[in-house]
Amino acid sequence: MKCIRCANDTYKSTTTEAVELGSGVLVIRNIPCYKCTVCDEIHFTGDVVKRLEEIISYAKQHIQELSVVNFENAA
Ligand SMILES: [Zn+2]
Repeated sequence: MKCIRCANDTYKSTTTEAVELGSGVLVIRNIPCYKCTVCDEIHFTGDVVKRLEEIISYAKQHIQELSVVNFENAA
């Protein structure tokens, strides 16, 4: 995969995202991603994006003030 911002090579990594949901904040850890070797731009595959959307939509209905989930174990 090439970087969408600068077209350089990317490498496999993981990242943490914090999502503001209005009723609370959801932190998702260990998300598989590709990081650019030059500009650090983060890229998610389609599968990961779809999974993130599912986790976020579930969290919107169940979230407390702050939730931390692990991507691998998330419902
Ligand atoms: Zn880049």
